[in-house]
Amino acid sequence: MNPYTNEVLKTFADATDVDIQQALETADGLYHEMKSKPISTRATILHGIAKYMRYNKYDLAKVMTLEMGKLISESEGEVELCADIADYFADHGAEMMEPTLLHTRANGEAKVYKQSTGVVLAVEPWNFPYYQIMRVFAPNFMAGNPMILRDAANIPWSAQTFADMIIQAGAPQGSIANLFMSYDQVADIIADPRIQGIALTGSERGGASVAKEAGQNLKKSTMELGGQDAFIVLDDANMDDVNNIAWRARLYNAGQVCTSSKRFIVMDSVYDEFLENLIKNFASVQPGDPMDNATTLAPMNTKKAKEKLQKQVDEAVAAGATVAYGNKPIDLPGQFFMPTILIDIAADNPAMHTEMFGPVAQVYRVHSEQDAIDLANNSQYGLGGIVFSGDPLHGEKVATQINTGMVYVNTFMTSLPELPFGGVKNSGYGREMSELGLMAFVNEQLVVTADRPDMNNVTGGLVKLDPTND
Ligand code: NAP
Repeated sequence: MNPYTNEVLKTFADATDVDIQQALETADGLYHEMKSKPISTRATILHGIAKYMRYNKYDLAKVMTLEMGKLISESEGEVELCADIADYFADHGAEMMEPTLLHTRANGEAKVYKQSTGVVLAVEPWNFPYYQIMRVFAPNFMAGNPMILRDAANIPWSAQTFADMIIQAGAPQGSIANLFMSYDQVADIIADPRIQGIALTGSERGGASVAKEAGQNLKKSTMELGGQDAFIVLDDANMDDVNNIAWRARLYNAGQVCTSSKRFIVMDSVYDEFLENLIKNFASVQPGDPMDNATTLAPMNTKKAKEKLQKQVDEAVAAGATVAYGNKPIDLPGQFFMPTILIDIAADNPAMHTEMFGPVAQVYRVHSEQDAIDLANNSQYGLGGIVFSGDPLHGEKVATQINTGMVYVNTFMTSLPELPFGGVKNSGYGREMSELGLMAFVNEQLVVTADRPDMNNVTGGLVKLDPTND
């Protein structure tokens, strides 16, 4: 359904149990076949996928914009990022899969071999329809783990387009299979012995349900869940940079980003300037057709998501928060939510611990750096964060005191294939992207060999842990 026009664009049939069994059989067959093929063949295919995506950028982007409403320029950027991820793992996957030599007192040479483990189930959300899939697909394809995809119910067209595109671009049948499965079918497929890994990106609720099924079946899982990221502005921050970045860090993708800056924590001395600029920038966006390049505020992805956000804002206001800007209807038929700024959020306000997944900013005034750090850490989530400081080294020191998986200092948060992505606490566990992401569903098999004929030449090697050190 197009959230700008509210039209039904396409319909899709649910997966039958026969469809699921066939997909599992094909994927499992490919898993065994790939074991005997050189990894370089998969690198060539993955480069081909990147090329195909760049060549068909606009057509691929259009599907996402029509189906979940994001701005066409942002959809095109997402297609490019997917191509970069594919190229990155095509370039570096083989090296990451090389065995590593360990220093050991054991009798013999100790090596850790990297081996594929089987089919990975990816349960993905709607907010970045292609990127979320590519983050799991590219590293696992290089590792030799085929993917079964179960995507969000509101983006079936994007999910099918992505899966078709992978095969059309030259990947063997079984590399990816998109299945429109019910929650019960997801639980059943997790129990199937051919599934050896489960990667979920989504909410705490969805993550907890799927992680429970994975745990019951002793299957390894990674969970990329929600966040309430803080954006800390210290006394000496460069306010031109802060004012330029803050509003975009909240409104990008209509605010529907796990690592959006959802809580701005601002020192007293710069608070008034900060709020004034945030209001000015929030007021400057132009709602409209997301296919039109002049539009700068996209609709939200569904009516349900918009209604949920409105309820959260109403509850925050009822509990004493002040609306500094926004919270009025937008007179368009699409699922638009006016960018909104909430202030005066007291410690007992439910907003303090609510992930608002849309264009709503919470702004907090603090009187010391320690208060800023404590407030940032006062969350059940631990995904990302941003710190602005006049002294980058000091900003880095503050960053290390924020209990999250990723913090950026004096810059916008960006996701790149070489950087590990993931969180702690209720934001989940495990990492996607980088070497850490590629290893998620790889068997790191230890082999210790005594009496090797070439043992005299063995000096021992190093375990590579730094994914950026390529
Ligand atoms: P969600 O409701 O948890 O849905 C995510 C996916 O899980 C969807 O495909 C959903 O299917 C499926 N799902 C949910 N419950 C399930 C169950 N019991 N069994 C099987 N599948 C199940 O999440 P959302 O609200 O759509 O997505 C937004 C959330 O994702 C936010 O919290 C956001 O912060 C988080 N997110 C995190 C990251 C990250 O990398 N950490 C990235 C992007 C988004 P249906 O659509 O059919 O319900």
